[in-house]
Amino acid sequence: MLAMHSIDDNDALKTIDTLKVEDPKTIELSEVFSVEEFLQVVEVALGSLSIYLADDTLRGLALTEPQHIMHEARQLMTSDLGEPHSAARQEKLKAILELYIKTGIQVHSPGYMGRQFSGVIPMAGIVDLVNSIINQPSSFYEAAQLPSVAERIMANELNRFIGYPDDNFALVTTSGASLANLTALLTARNSRYPQFWAEGAPVTKNQERPAIAVSGDSHYSVSRAAGIMGIGEAQLVKLPIDGKGCIDLSKVGATLDAAKARGLDVFCLVATSGTTSVCAFDPIEELAEVCQKRNIWLHVDAAHGGSLLLSEQRKHKLKGIEKADSFAWDAHKMLFMPAMCTLLFYKEGNKRRLAFNQEASYVFEKEDDIYTEYDSAQGNFECTKRPLIMNLWVCWVMYGKALFEKKIDLLCELTDSAYHFLEQQPDFTALHRPEANILCFRYCPSQVTDAELSDFQLRLRNDIKAAGKFFISKVNIDGITALRVVFMNHETTLVHFSMLLDELRQTATQWREDRNVAMRTQYNIKNGANEAEQI
Ligand SMILES: *Cc1c(COP(=O)(O)O)cnc(C)c1O
Repeated sequence: MLAMHSIDDNDALKTIDTLKVEDPKTIELSEVFSVEEFLQVVEVALGSLSIYLADDTLRGLALTEPQHIMHEARQLMTSDLGEPHSAARQEKLKAILELYIKTGIQVHSPGYMGRQFSGVIPMAGIVDLVNSIINQPSSFYEAAQLPSVAERIMANELNRFIGYPDDNFALVTTSGASLANLTALLTARNSRYPQFWAEGAPVTKNQERPAIAVSGDSHYSVSRAAGIMGIGEAQLVKLPIDGKGCIDLSKVGATLDAAKARGLDVFCLVATSGTTSVCAFDPIEELAEVCQKRNIWLHVDAAHGGSLLLSEQRKHKLKGIEKADSFAWDAHKMLFMPAMCTLLFYKEGNKRRLAFNQEASYVFEKEDDIYTEYDSAQGNFECTKRPLIMNLWVCWVMYGKALFEKKIDLLCELTDSAYHFLEQQPDFTALHRPEANILCFRYCPSQVTDAELSDFQLRLRNDIKAAGKFFISKVNIDGITALRVVFMNHETTLVHFSMLLDELRQTATQWREDRNVAMRTQYNIKNGANEAEQI
């Protein structure tokens, strides 16, 4: 069995875990940094990765107790290096990579349907290897010339699908959408209250408190950002959502009015393009109109759904995005990049400098020259930053928009087919009609009562995960627990989805059989019968 080893000999494990690791006696710098060493290491890594990528079996996650992984990892540390050193190191590296790969969520397997990160485009991974070795931290032009230029190029390339006026928009890359959301909200806050950065929370004439309006189903990073920024979670105005999980437009005006009456000054509204739970898309165009009328900054958290802009068939889900003051778009989700690479766009590019209203004379110049104009440090939180854009830019150069569009369309079509397939199964219910590649549903066999259904889904999900063939997630919507699949792997097909449904059914049947046996056994014990005779 793949998963859930139990620990039967804790003491033996502990002995190894506390063993002192012997450092190799001598190590020559010239050897470590030699091209020979590099080539050997690469060969081992490529060997492991090739086997991994070629494996198309159904694998989810072999969830293993940390103690066991600790044990294996410690063993790899303690075993003798032996002679010759480089050959022994290759063996050891191979074993380490094997452990690393086998203990992960198998994102390249068709059984992977559980999360929003994907099996990356191999080209992007290779460029990331180069990033790591040549190491050009990219907040300043002089340290990362090509990445700084590539960022401008990608900004322009992607703006073809966004539609901001050409002369003024800007792109900042950040390590994740959580950080992009925080950055954009800081910009919105500092734009409204110019003294906030230096003096702290403003005391306005009418004692109004700064507040942010968010969808009732926004990502947790938004409320976290409010906490970090000193806005306070209590000043988050929750906009009611409709049955599809979108901000209910008909209630926005009244909610904002009520907030105003409560003494709140809403300076920013956060909409979501692709909510994490069901991937619902808020009506951006209409919200932009509301925000414009009320002088509110509109930020769109398009971490997941931003990529649909590249799909001719689906870009309409983000209609009006060019009216958003800012929006966050994760390339490490639906653009299939390695974690992480987030694109934060601003309609008015100059405003990006408001986020961190700060002067640090040792790095920032008073007046830009042709070089510092390309520095991104003033607009992003990170000081040392990976050259996030390189992986994406190179794939864009090599494969073009077509690759992304093809994969996105395929995943959304698959999700749609899965939905229709579910509709034909009397024992399954979909919670929503999918807008992109996320589908939430429940298994509802007749034997299970309504009251038991939520717990039932949870147990199912845990057992399916533990069985190790499929990796799926769960979701809780208004107190209803459901199963959630996110199709990120284009090698997953309807056949695999149908196998998942069968496995869910079999799991529940097995529980029933186990329970019947247990009940029969209890009955027999109570009646003095010998269990063995009954079988
Ligand atoms: C994934 C996601 C985030 C968080 O993004 P990270 O890149 O993981 O920090 C925020 N908002 C939404 C809607 C998301 O889907």
